[in-house]
This record gives sequence, C-alpha cells and structure tokens, in this order.
Amino acid sequence: KPTLDTAWAVQWLRLAAKVIAENRMALIELDRVIGDGDHGENMDRGFSAVLTKLDAEPPATPGAAFKLVAMTLMSKVGGAAGPLYGTAFLRAASAVGDAAELDSNTLAAALAAARDGVVARGKASVGEKTMIDAWTPAVDAASAAAASGATPAALLAAAATAAEAGSVSTDPLIARKGRASYLGERAIGHRDPGSVSSALILRAAAQAAG
Ligand code: ADP
Ligand code: MG
Ligand code: MG
Repeated sequence: KPTLDTAWAVQWLRLAAKVIAENRMALIELDRVIGDGDHGENMDRGFSAVLTKLDAEPPATPGAAFKLVAMTLMSKVGGAAGPLYGTAFLRAASAVGDAAELDSNTLAAALAAARDGVVARGKASVGEKTMIDAWTPAVDAASAAAASGATPAALLAAAATAAEAGSVSTDPLIARKGRASYLGERAIGHRDPGSVSSALILRAAAQAAG
C-alpha cells in the first residue's frame, strides 16, 4: 500500500505497548547497569496508559494518535525519557498535521521531526550513547527509502533495522548525556536502554505496517 492510515497508527501503538511490556524487565536490567534501573518501569507505565486512552478516546487521525501518545508519555513516564519521547511524538504529530493517510515522504519527515525534537530537548549527538544513536540512523534510512520510492512498510522496516544496529552500536561507547555519563568508562560494554526502547518502538511501527 502507498499510504498508512489511522488503523495503522493505532495498531502500532498497541504493538509498541505489548513489546514494551514484554521487555519491561530487560529494560530495567539494562538501566540498572548504567542508570537507575527504572527505564522499563517508566516506559511500561506510559504505554499502559496509552492503551487505556486509545480505548477511551479513539483518535481520528494518525496525528491525533501521536498527540495522544505525546501527552500521555509526558505526564506518565517522568525521568529523562518521558519528556524526550513526549517531544518526539508531539513533533511527529505536527509534521503529519490532520492528514488521514501518510505516504513515505510524510513518514520520513515525521521521523526526522521526532528525532529533531529529541535533539532539541536533550542536546545529544550521535556517539554519545543515547536514544539518538538509534533514532538518527533510523531517520537516515527512512529518508533514503523515501527517496528511492519505497513503500511505507519497507521504509519503516529499514528504519527499524537501522535503529536496532544503532542501538547495538552504543555498546562500546562512553555516555556523554544522561545518568550513564556519571559512570565514565564503566559504561563501556553496556547497551543504552533508551536506544533499545526506541528500536523496539520503531520495529512495532514496521510490524503494524505489515
Ligand atoms: P532517567 O535516566 O531519568 O532514569 P530513563 O531511565 O527513563 O530516565 O531513560 C534513560 C534513557 O534516556 C537513556 O538510556 C538515554 O537513551 C535517554 N537519554 C537520557 N538523556 C538523554 C539526552 N540528553 N538525549 C537523548 N537521550 C537521552
Ligand atoms: Mg532510568
Ligand atoms: Mg529515573
């Protein structure tokens, strides 16, 4: 299909909530090693609340769905990740406006806007061992896919694969942002938890697209 609709957006968020719940302990373990051990709990609380809101007030457009996530994550997640993911989804909502159908160019622009929002808020660059190490390769892969005429499903699959590789690439890094930066060289050899949750969420987007 050349476009994705509100049903895709809702399915994405349901799958994201499921995979975050399934990986709750894994994210807690990762954050216990180089942070304060709450990332899985934070994200699961936020996405559980997203599920409740989706049932209570079904969104009419993909943009409305993204805005619902933004508001929910900002109020429920706390810590560093809540405002960062909240800003990401809010910028994505602005990028798609009230369109009912999203084509590949719009999706690539929405992912770029989301990443730019995380950077505006957290000031991280690639290589500083944060979720940006997952988001930026994902945005680059999405842009390349859109430019080559890929379908939205293929674009999202490429973005998710790039995010997963980007997350793995955080293993040998010293953290320069967030709590892990207090550890210096002791962070080396451990994966950044926010990059893992980002890759899980982007893979869910691809799975929802088919
Ligand atoms: P907290 O560190 O406040 O407990 P979480 O554990 O929920 O918050 O989230 C930690 C994750 O947030 C990190 O793994 C990292 O990916 C991300 N993060 C932290 N600071 C930044 C930042 N300045 N820019 C981008 N991402 C960040
Ligand atoms: Mg934490
Ligand atoms: Mg915390």
